[in-house]
Amino acid sequence: MNKGNIGVTSDNIFPVIKKFLYSDHEIFLRELISNAVDATQKLKTLSSVGEAKGDLGDLRVRVTIDKAKKTLTVSDHGIGMTAEEVDKFINQIAFSGAEEFVNQYKDKAEAIIGHFGLGFYSSFMVADKVEIFSLSYKEDAKAVHWSCEGNPEYQMEETIKSERGTDIVLHINDEFSQYLEEATIEGLLKKYCKFLPVEIAFGKKKEWKDGKQEVVKDEAGNEVENIINNTKPAWTIKPSELKDEDYDKFYHELYPMQMDEPLFHIHLNVDYPFHLTGILYFPKIKSNLDVKRNKIQLYCNQVFVTDEVENIVPEYLTLLHGVIDSPDIPLNVSRSYLQSDNNVKKISGYITKKVADKLAELYKADKEDFAKKWDDIKLFIQFGMLTDEKFYDKAVGFALLKNIAGEYNTLAEYKDKVKEAQTDKDGNLVLLYTNDKDAHYTYIERAKQKGYDVLLMDGELDVHQMSQYESKANGEGTNGESLRFVRIDSDTIENLIKKEDAEKDTYSDEQKEGLRKAVEAVLPANEKLRYYVSCEAAAKDALPIFLTQNEFMRRMKEMSAHQQGMSFYGNMPDQYNLVVNTSHPLIQELVGKETSEEIDEVPETKEGEEPKEAVKKTVYTLSGEDERLKQLIDIGLLASGQLKGEALAKFVNRSVELL
Ligand code: ADP
Repeated sequence: MNKGNIGVTSDNIFPVIKKFLYSDHEIFLRELISNAVDATQKLKTLSSVGEAKGDLGDLRVRVTIDKAKKTLTVSDHGIGMTAEEVDKFINQIAFSGAEEFVNQYKDKAEAIIGHFGLGFYSSFMVADKVEIFSLSYKEDAKAVHWSCEGNPEYQMEETIKSERGTDIVLHINDEFSQYLEEATIEGLLKKYCKFLPVEIAFGKKKEWKDGKQEVVKDEAGNEVENIINNTKPAWTIKPSELKDEDYDKFYHELYPMQMDEPLFHIHLNVDYPFHLTGILYFPKIKSNLDVKRNKIQLYCNQVFVTDEVENIVPEYLTLLHGVIDSPDIPLNVSRSYLQSDNNVKKISGYITKKVADKLAELYKADKEDFAKKWDDIKLFIQFGMLTDEKFYDKAVGFALLKNIAGEYNTLAEYKDKVKEAQTDKDGNLVLLYTNDKDAHYTYIERAKQKGYDVLLMDGELDVHQMSQYESKANGEGTNGESLRFVRIDSDTIENLIKKEDAEKDTYSDEQKEGLRKAVEAVLPANEKLRYYVSCEAAAKDALPIFLTQNEFMRRMKEMSAHQQGMSFYGNMPDQYNLVVNTSHPLIQELVGKETSEEIDEVPETKEGEEPKEAVKKTVYTLSGEDERLKQLIDIGLLASGQLKGEALAKFVNRSVELL
């Protein structure tokens, strides 16, 4: 028997580790299994170069629980350790490494969470006593038994062990008895070890038979072991050896609860300047709601690390599904540090480029098919364009605009298409859109009559996207060309795209003033809405009175719903322009009925000013036409879907009476 003190200088770091790692203690299992897998891989390497002799035999790593003895054991058939190696790797290196780690992070408990590589030592988080039984692959090696009870003293002695490899036996602390439960361990193995390169066995494979679980037997009648992992996950296989079905199959292996097929995938493979492999999938994203259910999983040499990849890939890429495996992402540092890490930045940039290139390639290869998928990937691409300039630059070539007829075009294609009809007299290109085909029906019909096209912009990020297109087109460095998106109901169609031959009316300002006052006098009051009345010469066949809503104000209100610090706009009442169409025969008839009167009006004077002389002014009034005006206003409101409840009932009754 050999006793000694392990290579730790501070008195007792065990309690410190336990305390700090409290929230993340389950990683001990990942660490022990990683070591077992490493030892097995090392043996395979030694064998391939002829240093380890003979048949390697069974190489499975096994995890077993003994509830009676309160132990959890991880066994491998890897290279094993001699007594000297246990002394070196466990007593000296492992412990000093752990000590250094604890000293470094003593004051930063949160930095420890998500830490990777605390290694063997982490078993003391959940065990009162840890034992190692190991037999090295080396010829004539003697088996060694090491044990330690969570203090700096250890015991080491020769022992008898017939099989090559290492058993790590944890005597689980009563406080952590959950780690003696099969379900808990199976859950952890599935989480961390699902794609490890060496088979991990846990218990026997069971099947439901006649209402109870039975152990599965092979043809020879032997019980079949329950293998946790797929040792060759798709991302480790060459893309040329995989078919689309293989990618789909792997998708469901990653996300067993996901029913939908992914739209397409991107296989990542980089050797320089860092190592990274992985597969990203484009899921069908219908709304922000189901975005975060399946997350990208981050692996380090096939060991699951985390699915909190927020600082590692750009935010918009977190909408994707899939795996990223990189030994070069520093995992033993705090999350905020990750953002500033150069490797991580390069990885982000690389993934962005790869994703954009793949999308461009898909678009080029089959535009029709790309258009079919557009509605499902639109949210993701817009999010990327809005948050990443580099992505925007590439995506503008394949991001699509959809019109109300269901046709898809890129911005450049669309501009070309509507340029002729929709350029106003000042040379500005005006793109018309609706976010609600039904509500804007009458406006859309008028636009169609004029030969204009209307885009359908009903997505969650469309308002932001339009603003981005506008600022890119109208910003510095552009050749004076201006681009505006205007919603179809934001003005009269004549004003939306002003042409040289715009209609004019022959009424004086005073006449229009009289008309405006008459309309205002009968306008229904509404606290949440504000109507501004104006008189304009729209088309003869447009409605006599109709509503428009200012594009700028409405957009500010819409954007404020998504952004902080813009509540000023959000709190304002909805504002509409109530346009009295002076070209319409019914309105002209009304103006004809106005009575005029000449009055003397004394202009206002300020304090200290000389009183001014009265001036002559003609005032027009329209009386006895209240019912008619109400009816015309209501028709305008009705066409915009704003006539409801009592007002609607009144309108219906009035209509019947008039008839
Ligand atoms: P790390 O794995 O990060 O090197 P650990 O503390 O987990 O740190 O392990 C220290 C060393 O102990 C390992 O590098 C390895 O040499 C040795 N070791 C641990 N577990 C095993 C095992 N199951 N078989 C063989 N060697 C092992």
